[in-house]
Parts: sequence; structure tokens; C-alpha cells
Amino acid sequence: MRYLVHGGLVNGIRQDLYLEHGRIRRMVACDPQAALPQSDSDADPSLAGSWEIIDARGMLVLPSLVNGHAHSAMTLLRGVAEDMELMPWLQQAIWPREARLTAEDVYWGTRLAALEMLATGTTVCADMYFFPEAQAEAARDSGMRFIISYPLIDGLDESKAEAQRDACERFFSSLPDCGPRSMFTIAGHSVYATAASSWRFLARMCRERGLLLHLHLAETESEDRFCRERTGMSPARYLDALGVLGPWAFAAHCLWLDAADWDLLADRGVTVVHNPASNMKLASGPAFDWEAARSRGIRVMLGTDGAASNNSLDLFSDLKLAGLLQKHHWRDPRRAPVQDLVQAVTSAGHDFFRTGAGRLEEGAAADLVLLDLRKASMTPCHDPLANAVYAGAGAAVDTVFCDGVPLVRHGRIEGAETVLAEARTRAEKLR
Ligand SMILES: [Zn+2]
Repeated sequence: MRYLVHGGLVNGIRQDLYLEHGRIRRMVACDPQAALPQSDSDADPSLAGSWEIIDARGMLVLPSLVNGHAHSAMTLLRGVAEDMELMPWLQQAIWPREARLTAEDVYWGTRLAALEMLATGTTVCADMYFFPEAQAEAARDSGMRFIISYPLIDGLDESKAEAQRDACERFFSSLPDCGPRSMFTIAGHSVYATAASSWRFLARMCRERGLLLHLHLAETESEDRFCRERTGMSPARYLDALGVLGPWAFAAHCLWLDAADWDLLADRGVTVVHNPASNMKLASGPAFDWEAARSRGIRVMLGTDGAASNNSLDLFSDLKLAGLLQKHHWRDPRRAPVQDLVQAVTSAGHDFFRTGAGRLEEGAAADLVLLDLRKASMTPCHDPLANAVYAGAGAAVDTVFCDGVPLVRHGRIEGAETVLAEARTRAEKLR
């Protein structure tokens, strides 16, 4: 299918975007007063033929958002336990319920997450959860792009760790079909839940197979203390000693890092994922030190983390929180400028996961979000990017393209009712 996205505000001017085979084929400046074009373009003979018109007049067109760290099926646990510290929250509220989850639960929980993310402008999600086959099926059926991370979580039990590694090898020797837009990679949960032998295995898998490595790093003070007591090293140093850190690694949280740790991450080319809502809600530590990352040239993406600790997967709301947190914590309103925030939530992730999207230019993959600037919260629009970051843009999402396909039209997603009904039924059992 070919689409002509007509008259939206693109890179500061009104333009027509011709989308074909999942890419932005042509961008042509247009007269905002002109009538809606006919489906046959006569402006340019090379664009002859029929194009389905998407009326984007009055809308801001941005690259879609990339959620760099999530546990999608935790949507089923949204709101099960509030106002608790991380370890009791995990041990008493989350892990016992997760132990009861089935593959089918994970499928519907992931579909629910996809529904929420797409409706709020996200087309790419790096996921860390159980039942990767179910996630693969959900990725395919949702149409969005998932980075499905096969996780090693052994609780530091060596016999369990060995069995998991064997299962992981088998999984990667015969991968299930996750569709053309998604991919598989691997994950180590954390220094407190993944054994040293498994970290070495993960590092080898990344080197030998070119996989990415998804992990939690330096999230809490207790994690930092635990690691130093056991190994005499900070979590970052310890993982580096095991060969884990490299340009393949993307590490969520990264709160309890000292200057030497930040130097190490920069030196190894690690990408970090900032999760402001989850970090603040679980009171995980000091504010994320974005300047430490920026000044060292470390790539920063944004993530929601799971819906149990956020409780929303609307990445626009995390974007706003990220900006506010930096300014508030360092008492400096110049921190985290709008441009940097937008880049972290769009091009940084598209580049890292190599989707080909993240920029509004000819040849780029067509992962786009259209924000309706006629909504009250988007009016007036003196500064479109400031509106996108700070004015509640998740609720202004009208249309979302993933790989050139409009998965959201006027806020609606095909099949949403079925997903919502199934997810409600499954969540009921987890009360
Ligand atoms: Zn997480």
C-alpha cells in the first residue's frame, strides 16, 4: 500500500510525505491552503499511480517513539502493589504472581502493551520477559517492532543457570517466527539475579552471534552494596570483568554509578536507558545523571519499564518526567533541553535498534507519529517540540505508522476490543 501523508508540519514546514514499501519515498513542500489532493498525484510524474491520502493538515509529524526498556506483559500486573520498596515489591507482590503466568497470559499482556504503546506513538519496544515464543506471536499480531530479549534469571542458582543456558542455546538454534519487524536478542536480569557463569555465556553469545544484550544495571543502592560485598567491585566493574560490557549492551536505569563507572560505560560503548517514572515511583536512587552520560558521548534512550512500576506505557509522559527530573534535581532549567529529550526518545533508539527510522527524510523507514495540534492541550503551537515534550502529547496522537503501515488511525486500532477483553479476563486471575 502507498500512502500520501498530506499537509502535516514536518521539520518546521508543511509537507507531503509519500510512503511506499515502508519508507519515506518523497517529501514535497505543499501549500497549506490547497485542497486535499486527489489520489492520483499530478505534481510529479514519478509519483503517478494511486496513493491513499492521509489528511495530516493541522498535525505535527514526528518520528515514532522507541521504548528502550519494558516488561510488556506486566500490563496484567498494573496496579497490583503500590507504595512499596523495590525488593519487597518484587519478592512479595510481583515474583509470586509472575510464577503463575502462562504463555497465553504473556501473549495477551504483550498485546495489551502494544495497544497502549501504539496509541501513544511508540512503534519499537525493547522487551524483557518470559515466554519469548508468546512474545514473538504477540509481536507479529500487533504489527509493531519488538526487540524480544531472551532472559537469563537464575537467582544465582548454578544448576538453574546451567539449565537456562542450555535452553537459551536451543532457542537460538531454532528461533520462532517473530515477523519481519521484530528481532530476538538476549538479556541478563541483574547482578543479583543472574549468575557469573551466565553473564560470561551472554557475553560470548553477543560476540559470536552479534546479538544485543539487555540488562538492568545499578538500579538500587542495595544492588550496589550486594555486588560490592560479594565481588569487591561496583556492578559496572563486575560486569566488565566478566566481559559483558560492549557496544552490544543496553543497560536500564544506571543510577548508582560513580565517575569511574561512567568512564567505563563510555569506553565500552554501552547505551543506557533512563526510566524516570519507574525510578521515581520505586525511589530507586539518586536522579539519573544525564549530564554524566551526555558529556561522555554515551547514547541515552528512554524507557517506561514495566507497567507495574510506572503504571503507564505512554512514553510521552516519561519524556516529560525526564525533563522535569533533570531540571529539578540539579536546580538548572537549562538541563535536558527539548531537542535532547526528543532525540533520546526517537532517533537514539531507532539508531541503536537499526530500524532505519528516527528521521524525517527521504529513504528513512516510515515509523511516524501524527499529533493533532488542534487539541486544546496542543493549542497554541508556538513551539511544536515543546508541545510534544511537555503538553501531554500522548493524548494528542491521531495516527501512527510503523514500517509504512498506519496501525493507528484517528486514535483507533483494529482488533483493540478483543485484546482489552482478553487482557481483563487474564488479569482477573492475578488478583
Ligand atoms: Zn526493568
